[in-house]
Amino acid sequence: LFNRVQIRLKAIVGPDVFSSWFGRLKLDSVSKSIVRLSVPTTFLRSWINNRYLDLLTKLFQEENPDILRVEILVRSATRGNRLIQSSEITDMSAPAVQPAQQPCRQPQSTGPAKLARNQAVQPGDGKSVTGSPLDSRYSFATFVEGASNRVALAAARTIAEAGASAVRFNPLFIHSSVGLGKTHLLQAIALEASASDRNPRVVYLTAEYFMWRFATAIRDNDALSFKESLRNIDLLVIDDMQFLQGKSIQHEFCHLLNMLLDSARQVVVAADRAPWELESLDARVRSRLQGGVAIEVEAPDFEMRLEILRRRLVAAQQEDSTLDIPDDILVHVARNVTSSGRELEGAFNQLLFRRSFEPTLSIDRVDELLGHLVNAGEPKRVRIEDIQRIVSRHYSVSRQEMISNRRTRTIVKPRQIAMYLSKTMTPRSFPEIGRRFGGRDHTTVLHAVRKIEGLLEQDTKLAHEIELLRRLISE
Ligand code: ADP
Ligand code: MG
Repeated sequence: LFNRVQIRLKAIVGPDVFSSWFGRLKLDSVSKSIVRLSVPTTFLRSWINNRYLDLLTKLFQEENPDILRVEILVRSATRGNRLIQSSEITDMSAPAVQPAQQPCRQPQSTGPAKLARNQAVQPGDGKSVTGSPLDSRYSFATFVEGASNRVALAAARTIAEAGASAVRFNPLFIHSSVGLGKTHLLQAIALEASASDRNPRVVYLTAEYFMWRFATAIRDNDALSFKESLRNIDLLVIDDMQFLQGKSIQHEFCHLLNMLLDSARQVVVAADRAPWELESLDARVRSRLQGGVAIEVEAPDFEMRLEILRRRLVAAQQEDSTLDIPDDILVHVARNVTSSGRELEGAFNQLLFRRSFEPTLSIDRVDELLGHLVNAGEPKRVRIEDIQRIVSRHYSVSRQEMISNRRTRTIVKPRQIAMYLSKTMTPRSFPEIGRRFGGRDHTTVLHAVRKIEGLLEQDTKLAHEIELLRRLISE
């Protein structure tokens, strides 16, 4: 069973992706309905869970329809060869790291001259220097354009085509909540750029992978060559920036970023929030990331969701022409599964699999199967206006007062609570919430959210009040 799944998986993702992510995947146990697999590190587990669990589940289910679930475990460290866990990566002690030659300098202190002295150019085409492997399914060709991602897509295309000459978007920072296509877009940039005639050196890395590689390099006394390998690249693409943690790692990253940007190499970064909201990040890294262009990707509308599903079906049919889902079911799914691309993908895989032994899948049956996805995420989109209305009614202030400039205590507190709820109950960014509260600055919103978070830790009465408000708002 596991062998067959491995062979099919390799055929789908390609040998590079397979050996990097699944080479060390082992079968742990199979019960009637659950398959347990294991990998050596928590990093690999979270990577596979986030990106490939749906696919793995589908493959196992196709081999054996009784299987309901696939779980990934982390194997315990084996003797001798100590495994690095992600917790160790984040608190790597300073002495283990090569001391930096110079403090991570502020922007604009040195120019490209520095770089020219560096002799360690990658041999050959050096196309995939140190990066994570790319998944060929994530290309521009399969990316659906719509109002929610048009700007990000245009910027991504420009960079993939023009390479380093597109310095007006440097660094390009793409942010959105989960499942809205950031990774897809970043991989498309890396794929297209590395296929271009300019033969640029392209590196795509997730922040986690950067940390893991760096920690491994230090363990193997190889940090210098790892750093060298990143020095002479033309395009650096970093995904999931919010996960970059650890002082020494951030320090190294800051060096790398400065060096690349100062020598007009293109950098593209994605994260689940805007650069100024990446609070765990070193202030210098953050400020450097803010120096370029930040573009937010929003949730896809109905037309886009339908198009994503239709294209997926075409792709699936290229693999296996007997697969099919009637279009009215796709329309129904696109209308009801609204939260993210990832849920859409999950819904699609599940239906594709079901259809193969329930050829007469009715809409009611689809609802039954997808109930958890239809209601997941934001069942009813919470609107900032509703939050303002309900909070102001609860505290007997008017909505006008709430968004006014008045700073009376009786108004300030409800206002801060409403801002806090807006941040935690909607996907809106700090600047957007600021705008909706009478054109306030994003730092005011940030401050309000922190303030309420702090109070919630001590004040159980307030905690109950906010719970009550939450219920009123989501009703
Ligand atoms: P993120 O990195 O923002 O969390 P992903 O890039 O992993 O999101 O997208 C989640 C899934 O949804 C992927 O399978 C991706 O291919 C798909 N997806 C998201 N947006 C689009 C789009 N605009 N066109 C095609 N597929 C998309
Ligand atoms: Mg992603």
